[in-house]
Amino acid sequence: MRGLLSLDISELENILAGFGEKKYAAKQLRAWLCKGVSFEEMTNLSKDLRQKLSRNYTEGYAQIAKKLTSKDGTVKYLLELEDGNLIECVAMEYRHGRTLCVSTQVGCRMGCAFCASGADGLIRQLTAGEMLSELIAARESGDISNIVLMGSGEPLDNYDNVVAFIRSLQTEFGIGQRHISLSTCGLVPGIFKLAEENIAVTLCLSLHSAIDEKRKQLMPISRTYPVAEVIDAAKAYFKKSGRRIIIEYTLINSFNDGQDDISALKRALSGLNCHVNVIPLNHAAGKFSPPTKTQCHAFAALLEKNGLSATVRRALGSDIEGACGQLRRRVKENDVLRENS
Ligand code: SF4
Repeated sequence: MRGLLSLDISELENILAGFGEKKYAAKQLRAWLCKGVSFEEMTNLSKDLRQKLSRNYTEGYAQIAKKLTSKDGTVKYLLELEDGNLIECVAMEYRHGRTLCVSTQVGCRMGCAFCASGADGLIRQLTAGEMLSELIAARESGDISNIVLMGSGEPLDNYDNVVAFIRSLQTEFGIGQRHISLSTCGLVPGIFKLAEENIAVTLCLSLHSAIDEKRKQLMPISRTYPVAEVIDAAKAYFKKSGRRIIIEYTLINSFNDGQDDISALKRALSGLNCHVNVIPLNHAAGKFSPPTKTQCHAFAALLEKNGLSATVRRALGSDIEGACGQLRRRVKENDVLRENS
């Protein structure tokens, strides 16, 4: 059966018109769906309508298949979608509020070297409703005030659904542009397109190296879009949105942590209003190994000395398979869902 959370208001109007209902009932239904309640609990809809809906449709919510809580308060959810696919989202406690990291695809086709989400390629796109269902599910452990599109998937590879999701966050969930960040591996046409959307969310650019030859070893997408083109797109995004760009730099021991890397970053980021987030690689992946905490702070200090704004990102949820895609992958490989849930 079709899940109604994934439908927009005009599609809901059409369905309800088929049941002989007035247009305004679609707005009531949508408001209930955003609250995450069952058809039965939608008390301002007639009993007859509620029965018709439950006979022909589902609400479209994801089910919590597994929940892991970290010592630091981070909660990781493994969610089961209506077709049985599994996705992850992570709720994190920050000083400025509770932040939910959402997935935008099942799997990912970008193939970044250190990422568990991309290991099996893209399974399918998530609908805007399925992304909303991550938020609805995660609210069970507390209100969410910020959203980062930084979980499994490349948001700009699922462009229309992601933009619909962001618009819905802003208009239906009261989460404004200052509270939404979108992370991309650098899909240049998508960045230019997003700049024209008038939604002005914070753009986070996963750079990881400003040296093309190194970046190609980490991110296949950089064979199509070299560093200079990605930075030009980020500059265009800043010009349109006025939002400072966040540069994500996963620090890898003895790979991208040298003076040549700092010099390349300084050159590449010149003229871009940005802040560099230094993120320690959180687990060994092939030939890549994690840096120490001291290395991360020393690298950020050197960036600052070179005139770049930089901080080390606090690692949250490291005791609960915090990196994106790890939990889903372990569950898929070992079928541990039933034993441990
Ligand atoms: S890091 Fe992001 S873009 Fe790269 S494979 Fe993983 S999910 Fe995809």
